[in-house]
Amino acid sequence: MTTDTLFRETGALLAEFGIALSDGDLPVGSPIDGSRIAAVQRHDRADLDRMTAAAERAFIAWRSVPPPRRGELVRLFAEELRHHKQALGRLVSIEAGKILEEGQGEVQEMIDICDFAVGLSRQLYGRVVASERPGHRMLETWHPLGPVGIITAFNFPVAVWSWNAAIALVCGDTLLWKPSDKTPLCALACNALFARAIDRFGGASEDLRRGLSQVAIGGPELGRALAADRRVPLVSATGSTRMGGTVAPVVAQRLGRTILELGGNNGMIVTQSADLDLAVRAILFAAVGTAGQRCTSLRRLFVHDSIADTLLARLQRAYAQVRIGDPLEPGTLVGPLIGEHAFTAMQQALAEARAEGAEVFGGERVLAERWPQAYYVRPALALMPAQNGLVQRETFAPILYVMRYRDLADAIATHNAVPQGLASSIFTTDLREAELFTAAEGSDCGIVNVNIGPSGAEIGGAFGGEKETGGGREAGSDSWKAYMRRMTTTINYSRDLPLSQGIRFAVDA
Ligand code: NAD
Repeated sequence: MTTDTLFRETGALLAEFGIALSDGDLPVGSPIDGSRIAAVQRHDRADLDRMTAAAERAFIAWRSVPPPRRGELVRLFAEELRHHKQALGRLVSIEAGKILEEGQGEVQEMIDICDFAVGLSRQLYGRVVASERPGHRMLETWHPLGPVGIITAFNFPVAVWSWNAAIALVCGDTLLWKPSDKTPLCALACNALFARAIDRFGGASEDLRRGLSQVAIGGPELGRALAADRRVPLVSATGSTRMGGTVAPVVAQRLGRTILELGGNNGMIVTQSADLDLAVRAILFAAVGTAGQRCTSLRRLFVHDSIADTLLARLQRAYAQVRIGDPLEPGTLVGPLIGEHAFTAMQQALAEARAEGAEVFGGERVLAERWPQAYYVRPALALMPAQNGLVQRETFAPILYVMRYRDLADAIATHNAVPQGLASSIFTTDLREAELFTAAEGSDCGIVNVNIGPSGAEIGGAFGGEKETGGGREAGSDSWKAYMRRMTTTINYSRDLPLSQGIRFAVDA
């Protein structure tokens, strides 16, 4: 693969989505070889302002479309995704550096959430509430909210948007997407496919065509402008805890709503009774997959002292077999880091670990001669003497900190003693240990798994985490409620006017 090949292939993929890029002021690179694969035009605040106005206008039309009909548009979008799964998955791999299998997996996740949303479009159930007053009926209904601002991270350049978009659309909202400025092409591709779905939907007004789903290209400054805009009642922001810490107060100040999906520092406990065959496979996927660049990547491993030597030996053998290289080549399991910044952060963390007495295996740069502008690393295992400050931070790279434990309650306490609370897991065949980990006194995370790793969630469950992970939930279950406004209605069909709590308040008139 040469630099020129990637450039041309990207152009061909974009053409498949109907996108013809003229030169823009934001260069887009591929982490595969560090080369420039395109340039796109950035939007400024005035552009965003116009887009927000268009999203408002489209909302006026979209909110009155019956939800099952809204679901039909999402169904058509899923058809486009099915049809272009290979191409979009490949673009994800080229722009974000994921192996093909995972690029395709992201698109499958989009299809899954669309299917979920189509079903949901007929199930936006409210409830009837027992009224204390005779001749009265009380009910709760859910109505569309407005334009939803969606800020996404580089590492899931298509799936995270779709979790928000598919649900928000059937809920009657319109979409303003600010993708990572590292992955704008994936966003443009998704929106182009969505535009095709609108064409096939039929009867969409010009307002809907323009404002139902829009992409604003830019960096943090554009995200900040979106967060500050009072016309956007909900901002769903995915990214680092640092970003969430900036976005949350801006939205809160105008009393808007947020869904925050921020950094994780995910742990696994492997107990004395664990099935080690399963554990090794799960650890490998969770710690090494996506080159350690998932929010749910496994970063902290707590192993019972009695099995630690055996498990570590097996892990080292497994790590040695992992093929690192071009993510577009079949058989590759680990692609590149997103860029130099990620590589430097990883090396700094490993240096800190060594300084604190850790024994480190792996972590070095590889393939630098072949791709001097790209950053491939051997995933690292760091045997830590304790969970110090370094281990309590999220370093977005394939470093697995390994620690031994003797007492499960202590291990759970240490597991929970980090600021983040996204995903966690335990490997055990002991019912008591499994139940303890999932009980109130167990893991404090939003995702708590038994005998599977912390990463690779299905869309059916609510996804998100506690503490500095932000507390948001998106995707399945009843996450849709965050995208709607709740209305409580009381209807008096009697000929009297009884007040609640039996209050009498009348004059002779
Ligand atoms: P990032 O925080 O640098 O950027 C994420 C998005 O936020 C980008 O679109 C960026 O332009 C925007 N942004 C950055 N600063 C902003 C600000 N001050 N105001 C408004 N917008 C701003 O994150 P990244 O490097 O792209 O992604 C990696 C991080 O994302 C990791 O911490 C990872 O754990 C997290 N992540 C979390 C989830 C989750 O669901 N919890 C999913 C994916 C990634």
